[in-house]
Amino acid sequence: MQESLDAIGEALTENGKVIVTGCLGAKTNLIKNIHPAVLAITGPHDTPAVMKAVHQHLPRPHDPYTDLIGVKLTPPHYAYLKIAEGCNHRCSFCIIPSMRGDLVSRPIGEVMQEAENLVNAGVKELLVISQDTSAYGVDVKYRTGFWGGKPLKSNLLNLSKVLGDLGVWVRLHYVYPYPHVDEVIPLMAEGKILPYLDVPFQHASPRILKLMKRPASAEKVLQRLESWRAICPDITVRSTFIVGFPGETDDDFLQLLSFLEEAQLDRVGCFEYSPVEGAAANQLDGALPDRVKAERKAAFMKTQERISAGKLKAKVGKTLKVLVDEPGLGRCSADAPEIDGVVHFKGGKAGEFVNVLIDRADAHDLHGRLQ
Ligand code: SF4
Repeated sequence: MQESLDAIGEALTENGKVIVTGCLGAKTNLIKNIHPAVLAITGPHDTPAVMKAVHQHLPRPHDPYTDLIGVKLTPPHYAYLKIAEGCNHRCSFCIIPSMRGDLVSRPIGEVMQEAENLVNAGVKELLVISQDTSAYGVDVKYRTGFWGGKPLKSNLLNLSKVLGDLGVWVRLHYVYPYPHVDEVIPLMAEGKILPYLDVPFQHASPRILKLMKRPASAEKVLQRLESWRAICPDITVRSTFIVGFPGETDDDFLQLLSFLEEAQLDRVGCFEYSPVEGAAANQLDGALPDRVKAERKAAFMKTQERISAGKLKAKVGKTLKVLVDEPGLGRCSADAPEIDGVVHFKGGKAGEFVNVLIDRADAHDLHGRLQ
């Protein structure tokens, strides 16, 4: 939630013209209070309202050649593939389940058909998303669907395998560290799907995780990371954290910092806690002053920047496969669009894969030469 609100703020600063759509769009008052400059707000699955707002705010002359073309929200070479809606968890800081309801997995055949259509249309990277990707199929008891004329149970492992067969990059987002996630790591080691996991840990203090009502506890996370790396040494693990949650003590925060040191995550986002209208966490005691939240975020980022910089430095001298987003700019397996770093080089064409020899790393990005 905070991530989305921050993204709206960034978009307003950079672009000035912003229309909010999706599940956050159901919270019109909240968005209007925080970002009064947004042009329009629509709820989820409301393409007509989005189009109306676009035409209202971006009037243009009639063009018979392009008027039938829909709005593209991502460049043609990558696409988000939503595999489920809703969530069975009830994290205390989150209102998504109250807006979207419990988990509803899409039939595996339908997901695969969409994925294949996207690949046939030129997409080179599929970004698998949902509120809890690791829970895919739980709601339908891993029901058997059909793909390619063959029966296929709807679970994360099978879905990852058949997506991997499409021959494009497949990147998994919002995966919780449940034991069965271990099964997909060998697919990453074999190169079937990208060696990348986006796992929102949110905190490391068991007490705060309990107050947050998070689905997975911190206890086994470090062992799990170790075993993933043993199977797939190249794996990139990205995560997000919240600092300054109500009741977070100095000790809780120190536990979080020492988790960061031990976990050695590649990419990390950090947000200061801010109450969301309607979230259960608003009832918790121990709200922290903004100054403390800001100090903790700064300390957190300082620790993680050192770790991330070290991880990037280790790539200098290696040749990486890169998907070009625009000439001179692309991403390797470790970089999801919008949220991670990029690779800088000279040349390349959007949508093609190139090999780049890495010469240099800075705090967030890599720099190299086309091979
Ligand atoms: S797992 Fe928690 S934070 Fe994520 S959507 Fe579900 S309730 Fe919200």
